Amino acid sequence: MELNDSQLTIRDQYRKFMTTELEAATPAMESGAELPFPFMKKMSSELGVDLAAGAGDDEEMRALASWARTQLIIEIARVNPGFGMSWGVSLGLCAGNIMRSGTQDQKERYLPGLLRGETVGCWCLTEPGAGSDAFRSMRTAARRDGDHYILNGSKTFITNAPYGEVFLVYAKNHEDESIQAFIVEREFEGVSVGKPFKKMGMKSSPTGEVFFDDVRVPAENLLGAGMRDRDHVRKSLAGERIGIAIMGYGIAERCFEIARDYAKERVQGGHAISNYQLIQNRLARMYVALSNARRFVYEEGDLSILDACAGKLYVAEVGTFVAHEAIHILGGYGYLEEQTVERLARDAKLLELGGGTTEIQVLTIARHILA
Ligand SMILES: Cc1cc2nc3c(=O)[nH]c(=O)nc-3n(C[C@H](O)[C@H](O)[C@H](O)COP(=O)(O)OP(=O)(O)OC[C@H]3O[C@@H](n4cnc5c(N)ncnc54)[C@H](O)[C@@H]3O)c2cc1C
Repeated sequence: MELNDSQLTIRDQYRKFMTTELEAATPAMESGAELPFPFMKKMSSELGVDLAAGAGDDEEMRALASWARTQLIIEIARVNPGFGMSWGVSLGLCAGNIMRSGTQDQKERYLPGLLRGETVGCWCLTEPGAGSDAFRSMRTAARRDGDHYILNGSKTFITNAPYGEVFLVYAKNHEDESIQAFIVEREFEGVSVGKPFKKMGMKSSPTGEVFFDDVRVPAENLLGAGMRDRDHVRKSLAGERIGIAIMGYGIAERCFEIARDYAKERVQGGHAISNYQLIQNRLARMYVALSNARRFVYEEGDLSILDACAGKLYVAEVGTFVAHEAIHILGGYGYLEEQTVERLARDAKLLELGGGTTEIQVLTIARHILA
C-alpha cells in the first residue's frame, strides 16, 4: 500500500517508538516484573496519542486521524499485543464508551485521567456463567435505591481488573431486565478484585475477576444517564472487534516479515531455504492471507456490525495462521521460548476468543445475512 507523506511521517514515528521503547519494555511486562500502565502514560505523553479522540470537522484530517489510529494499533501489535490489549481496553473500551455515551459530568470526571494513561480503565461484560451468551445469562444486577443503585454480582476475564481503577460495568436492571452500564470506581465500598490469571499468552496484560457486593453506585454514574437498549453494547462490541482485527493484522504482518527474512538467510543443503518451492508455497500463502486481511483493516468509514464480525473472524484467524507458519519456517528456532514469533503466536490465539469467539462471529454473520 502506497503511503502519502503525512502517513509515512506518522508511521515512521510510531514504528520508531514501538521498536525501541516498547520492544525494550516488553520482557519486563511479559515476565510480570512491570505492569503495562506506566508505559501507557509514557506513550500518551511522548506520542501525544489517544485512541478515543476525534479530529474535528475537516474531512481530510478525520480520515488521517482514523488511519493513524489503525496504524498505531498495528505498530503496537507488531511488537507487543498484550500491551495493546491493556491499552485498548482502558482507552478504547472504557474511555471510548464514556466519550461516546457519557454525560458531560462523567466525561469531565473520568476522561482526563483515562486518556492520559494515568487511570486504569476496565470494560466488564463477561461473567463466570455468561461468556458467549453475555446478555441473556447475565447475573450481575442493579437495583435502584433513592439516588443510588445497589450493584451485586461478579465479572471475570476482565482485562486490567486486578489493577483497575474505573470499571465500566454492564448489569441487569431489576425493574425491567434491561442492560445498563455503570461507571464504578475501585474505591466504592464493596468492590474487590482477584489476583491476575496465569495465561497462555497476552502476558503483558493482566486479566482477572472483579466482585460487587452491595456496591452503592451514585445514580449519576449510570452511563449516559441510562440507555435501556443493547445498541450501546453492540456498538461497543463492533468497535472492539475492529480493534481485535487490526491487532491480528499487526501480528501477521510482523510474523510474515520475520519468516521471509529468515528464509532468505537460513542455509540448508547448500541453499537459502527461500529457494525451496515448499517454503515459497508457505510464504506465498501467508502473503495472500495478509493481503486479504489488509482490506478489512484499512477500510474507511464506519463498518457495519456484519462487516466488523466478518473482519474480526477472518483477520483473527489470519493472525494465528501466519504466526504458526512463521514458527514452521524458523524450524526448531521458531519453537524456542521468547522468540518473537513464538510469543506472537500465543498472543494471536486470544484474538479468536476475546470480543466474541469464532463461533459467535459466525452466528452473528449468519443472522445478519439471512435477516
Ligand atoms: C485474556 C482475556 C481477556 C479478556 N478481556 C475481557 C474484558 O476485558 N472484558 C470482558 O467483558 N470480557 C473479556 N474476556 C472474555 C471473553 O470475551 C470471553 O472469554 C469470550 O467471550 C468467551 O466466553 P467464555 O470464555 O465464557 O466461553 P464460552 O461462552 O463458555 O464458550 C466456550 C466454547 O463454546 C462455544 N460456544 C458458545 N456458545 C456457542 C453457540 N451458541 N454455538 C456454538 N458454539 C458456542 C464458544 O465459541 C467456545 O468455543 C477476555 C478473555 C480473555 C481470555
